[in-house]
Parts: sequence; C-alpha cells; structure tokens
Amino acid sequence: MSDYIILCDFDGTITLQDTCVPILEQFAVGDWEKYDKLLSEGLINLYECMQKQFGMIQANIPSIISSMGSIPIRPGFADFISSCLSQKINVIIVSAGLDFVIRSVLLQNNLDLPVVAAKVKDKRFQLEFPSLHYPDSIDFKVDQVKYYQTQQKKVIFIGDGNSDLQGAMQADLVFAVKNSFLNSHFKNGFSSFLDLEKILMSLNN
Ligand SMILES: [Mg+2]
Repeated sequence: MSDYIILCDFDGTITLQDTCVPILEQFAVGDWEKYDKLLSEGLINLYECMQKQFGMIQANIPSIISSMGSIPIRPGFADFISSCLSQKINVIIVSAGLDFVIRSVLLQNNLDLPVVAAKVKDKRFQLEFPSLHYPDSIDFKVDQVKYYQTQQKKVIFIGDGNSDLQGAMQADLVFAVKNSFLNSHFKNGFSSFLDLEKILMSLNN
C-alpha cells in the first residue's frame, strides 16, 4: 500500500461544470441563490447553505437523474484512476454536492470510487452529512484529511473551490484546477488529469 492517499473534490474538479447549479435552476422553488450570497458573506456555513438550497427542490431523485443527461468529466480522469490503483494509491471523492448525483455520473463513466458527500434522507430533501471523526473540524473535507493523516497517510488534495480551502490547507500536497479559486491559494495548477498522472508517477518512484 502506498504512503499516499488522494482526496478529490467532484464538481468543477472531476466534472468540468458544477452539477448542482443546473439541478437547483430546474427543480428548486424559490430564491436559492440568496444562500450562496449569505455563504460567501460568512453569514451561514456550508451545511446551512446546502440544506436550505436542496430543501427547496420539488422533484424526486429518479426525475432529477433522468434530467441530468450525460455529464462531461475532465480529460484523463479514468486513466488517472487506473494509474493510482496500479500504484496502490486509493482515491476518495470528497464533495459538497449530493451523493446520488456523484454516483450517477461515476456510473455513466464506468467508474466506482468511494464517495464522502451528503445523502438525501427523505422526500423533502433533508440531508444527512458525513459524520465527523473530530468534532472540532470546520467541515467534513478537512476532517477526512486529518483522519487519513492519523492513519499515517500523506494526503494529496485535489480541488477547485471555496469548500476545498480548509481541506487543502490541512493536506500534505495540493493540486488546484488552473485559474480556480483554490489555485489563487495553491500554486500547483492543472487542467488535465494526464498532467497529474505524470506527477504522481514521480512521487511514488
Ligand atoms: Mg468543486
């Protein structure tokens, strides 16, 4: 088993576009965008924002999945995963999106990876968030990083957005999607997973 583990964001990192916004645009009833503003102003946290926004959805899961169509993923991701697995590096998706959306996109691409993300509990879209190993963790992304570090792993964090910042700050090595919010904090930028695959090979050798 490798000393490394990879924690990878989903929306905007594995996918090229955010998958939640089109779902909210189509199925949320009410002003869901105001919660993004409250989140960016620090008036609510990520959990409150997600619960408020997804709680406005008036649709069932099968109709949401069938509305999604085919979601393009970033070039090289499938080969990157094969290469990680052949080097015995586990890859875990940590996402502030929804578990069922992520699994459906993975299935479209014949991929099967562990996912740490919110699950929908009932028809009113009440969410169940991943439980924390450390109650003082600001969010579940940083909590996952800390957890694997205590398992003696070096954590590589890959992401793009605001919700990745805490996790990335705690990680041992960070790669950020080029020109993203996270890239303004961490200089290792990438556009294609093919670039990351090369770096990974050099780390493990
Ligand atoms: Mg993202």
